[in-house]
Amino acid sequence: MDCIFCKIAAGEIPAEKVYEDDHVLAFHDINPQAPLHVVIIPRRHIATINDIGEADTDLMGRLLQAAKAIAAREGVAGDGYRLVVNVNRGGGQVVFHIHMHLMAKRPFGWPAG
Ligand code: 5GP
Repeated sequence: MDCIFCKIAAGEIPAEKVYEDDHVLAFHDINPQAPLHVVIIPRRHIATINDIGEADTDLMGRLLQAAKAIAAREGVAGDGYRLVVNVNRGGGQVVFHIHMHLMAKRPFGWPAG
């Protein structure tokens, strides 16, 4: 499958990893939109949030647990951070392997752009 994030998960493409466990991997975004910008992915390929099933409920929770752990480890939990999941082209999704953006260390406006 021609999926860049599957290749990163398989170790075929290098990435600057910040977290990994049996189910989840996180690495610095190649084109950061904040001083801290981490991408958190499930190791298993799922294209979009529209494609998750009931059986993926635990896995989606693991993405949030990883985000919490990374935020604590990077020292941004207290000040705060932004978590974003883009869904399909209209939502700004470019890589079709579910991922959560964790961004921090700059101000974030609302509503998001
Ligand atoms: P999306 O717009 O799909 O939500 O975000 C995809 C993100 O993946 C973008 O922020 C982009 O910079 C990042 N990205 C795309 N290709 C690579 C890559 O090969 N390595 C890393 N580390 N990040 C990537």
